[in-house]
Amino acid sequence: MRAFQIAIIGGGVAGSAIARELSKYNLRVVVFEKGSDVASGASKANSGVIHSGINSPPSSLKARFCVEGNRMFPRLSEELGFPVKWTGKCVIAKNEDEIKELERLKHVGMKNGVPGLEMLDEDEMKKRESHVACCAALWVPTAGITLPYEFTIALAENAAENGVRFLLETAVTGLKKQDDYFVMETGKGDFQAEMVINAAGVHCREIVSMMEDPDFQVYPCRGEYLVLDKNYRSLVNSMIYPVPVKELGVLGVHITPTIEGNILLGPSAEFIDDHEDTRTTGPMMRTLLSEAREIIPEIPERAAIAAYAGIRCKLSPPESGGWADYRIEERDGMIHLLGIESPGLTAAPAIAKEVVRMVSRSLELEEKTDFNPKRASKPRFSELPAEEQSRIIEGDGRWGRVVCRCEHVTEAEVIEALSNPLGARTLASVKYRCRAGMGRCQGGFCTQHVVRIMEEHFGMNIRDITLKSPGSYLFPGRTRGDSSD
Ligand SMILES: Cc1cc2nc3c(=O)[nH]c(=O)nc-3n(C[C@H](O)[C@H](O)[C@H](O)COP(=O)(O)OP(=O)(O)OC[C@H]3O[C@@H](n4cnc5c(N)ncnc54)[C@H](O)[C@@H]3O)c2cc1C
Repeated sequence: MRAFQIAIIGGGVAGSAIARELSKYNLRVVVFEKGSDVASGASKANSGVIHSGINSPPSSLKARFCVEGNRMFPRLSEELGFPVKWTGKCVIAKNEDEIKELERLKHVGMKNGVPGLEMLDEDEMKKRESHVACCAALWVPTAGITLPYEFTIALAENAAENGVRFLLETAVTGLKKQDDYFVMETGKGDFQAEMVINAAGVHCREIVSMMEDPDFQVYPCRGEYLVLDKNYRSLVNSMIYPVPVKELGVLGVHITPTIEGNILLGPSAEFIDDHEDTRTTGPMMRTLLSEAREIIPEIPERAAIAAYAGIRCKLSPPESGGWADYRIEERDGMIHLLGIESPGLTAAPAIAKEVVRMVSRSLELEEKTDFNPKRASKPRFSELPAEEQSRIIEGDGRWGRVVCRCEHVTEAEVIEALSNPLGARTLASVKYRCRAGMGRCQGGFCTQHVVRIMEEHFGMNIRDITLKSPGSYLFPGRTRGDSSD
């Protein structure tokens, strides 16, 4: 049996942020992630917004961790090399009642310590966002955007570089206490730990129920998105939000520019039964488009290049208003993170600090002298000056071979992505690290090249190559030339 001091169940943004925070200390830490890479759940499928803290009631954990987390992003981005843009956001009103709601949000935000909030009238708003239809707006300058999967990967890779062990494709299927230790059952055998942190996202209740009768339910709530082509990026300068949908405890369909120059429309809010049902649906796509067009009428019918969905981990059902605060609780050597829905991406770094404070009450924490806060990351090759590109290509021709035409990704960048410290080796792992397959053709051109690189440089058998999750094989058999198939 392999023994650790701390086991984290779940390699989402919460588990990865905690892993990185714990990697600052002399501890043996392991992260179990059932997916083929970190950011397999909600952490890869959200709006990527660094929220400011205007939406949660003062004195709630959501407000506290959101505001604290927001302030941590500039330093994290600098240390870990993931992108952040402080675009700001406008929450818009369509009528007098909604203007009153904006005043209320401003008041809540100020109580939560959010700086720079400002009411804009129709004329001021027209100067800022000429395509947006509204009669007033609340300007929130401290809201920003990031790439949620890249942020999560950066946290996890830095934690791994500082000694945390990540076990991918390793679901925890059983958990019991034996003397002073927890024993975790997985498909790769049993593991032992002194403390366990439940960061399993929408599956947090399943982990609790391995030890006790949970006193709560999880109500999965799907949010679907449309991704617009980069041609439409000029439609907005900042994020545009409607007033929140109080009845469902969500922020409503908003228009969000992405770091890469696309625009997101969404998310929808649909309570469903299945915790993993991330399908996107025709009717919802049409609803998203029509709601977004109420804000920006110029959005064309056929502007979308992709769609995706994420599942919110709600602790409150729609009939109770859909809002509940986070529950971060320690019991019998376990720390449970329950109901980490939005603004969980923003709050994760602050939640991680809190969890380490909780751990320090049970385990003696000794700071490492050799902790390296910097992640080894490089700028995108396509963004380097031409002379530097030529110099690099002269040294290694693989930097000159473009394999993803849409996003201008080179063969060398794909090789670097596949050499990640977590050992993640799916097509999605490549996409989320270097963007090959994320552009307009959605992998139509580059997939064959990425597969070739996986075979040639990493000795992978084509039959074992997966899209993104265990068992999602890309090549189930040959269509000709191999009679054994
Ligand atoms: C539609 C939508 C939009 C959102 N927008 C924003 C936003 O703009 N800004 C913001 O701040 N927040 C946003 N959020 C919230 C944010 O995405 C989540 O709060 C955050 O990602 C939760 O992270 P997590 O690590 O708790 O969960 P997850 O990312 O779901 O990670 C949990 C991990 O645990 C793993 N796991 C589960 N069970 C097991 C097991 N038994 N063994 C091993 N591994 C297991 C899963 O595979 C998963 O990878 C949004 C969420 C959604 C759904």
